[in-house]
Amino acid sequence: MGWGGFNVRILPKDMAQPHFFSNEGEQPPHAVLAAGTIPESLIFGLFTKAKRESPQALRILLGPISDELTQAVSQNCQFEGLIEGWLDWPLDKNRFKLAISLVRRTTPEIMVFGTKNDGVGANSSSLGVIRQLRREMESLRESLNHCSLTGLLNRRGIEEKLALDWQESEALGLEFALLMIDVDHFKSVNDQYLHPAGDQVLVELGKHLSLQLRARDSLGRMGGEEFWILAPNTEPKGAQLLAQRLCESVVKQPFSVRGVLISITISVGVSVLRPHHQLDSSQLYHQAAQALRQAKQSGRNCVKVHD
Ligand code: GH3
Ligand code: MG
Ligand code: MG
Repeated sequence: MGWGGFNVRILPKDMAQPHFFSNEGEQPPHAVLAAGTIPESLIFGLFTKAKRESPQALRILLGPISDELTQAVSQNCQFEGLIEGWLDWPLDKNRFKLAISLVRRTTPEIMVFGTKNDGVGANSSSLGVIRQLRREMESLRESLNHCSLTGLLNRRGIEEKLALDWQESEALGLEFALLMIDVDHFKSVNDQYLHPAGDQVLVELGKHLSLQLRARDSLGRMGGEEFWILAPNTEPKGAQLLAQRLCESVVKQPFSVRGVLISITISVGVSVLRPHHQLDSSQLYHQAAQALRQAKQSGRNCVKVHD
């Protein structure tokens, strides 16, 4: 079953047999959720197997937990470290977010064991549980990957996107450019116009940059006054032209913040990965950062491409 970007498998509790994870062609799950009313021995077998074969998967109990299981967990030290959390029904949004935020995958796959009779969705159908989980997962995914100030991708979002884009570029034998953008003397913007105005400048700059990109490019705010652009299928000359165009357009476009026009400039460092090279993201970041440093040293408001 697909939920937007997530894959979910819902299984009756008797599928909680150890052979399940070794079915051919099945990817290991990223989270295993089991109804808290499933018998202790089944939970134990299921989570032990999950821990061994899919160590990155979260192991979470869902819904009300039976007295039998509560007692077993508190008295049996074998359970220690086996159950990583439990979620009440109705779901507690924050607990759920906290638990799932540990799943650092682009497409988490979640396995839910248990049915209506197991107390999963005791007050509604299992479908209701799944719908709510889906909504939570989708909003969580949004909030985890986006910057709350600008709405752009954040560091996590852009790093995930970079991994996907590069995979595709590599498969198609295309080049791939990273543009690292830093606002010049941003500290003095804050000093002169105060921090909230500085924030608004970052929001406006984000919108301004977004408008100039191609559909396949991605823009993210890495933190502070630093933005990154991922530009698939872009050779060094094209990346340089794009960066220059952005620099020039920012100079020409003062941002209006509460009726005051604020002018800024940006410096850009560019690095390009060639096809058929293994992705080494730290090398790519390092090269772009070096180019950005050169742009700052050359007087700012300019572009440098790592060669
Ligand atoms: P340079 O040209 O060398 O990049 O100078 P700079 O002043 O931009 O660089 P520096 O790294 O010294 O300062 C960055 C400033 O950006 C300092 C910090 O106050 C400001 N800043 C970082 N994040 C935010 C933010 O979210 N909002 C606001 N308003 N300012 C921020
Ligand atoms: Mg700066
Ligand atoms: Mg900076």
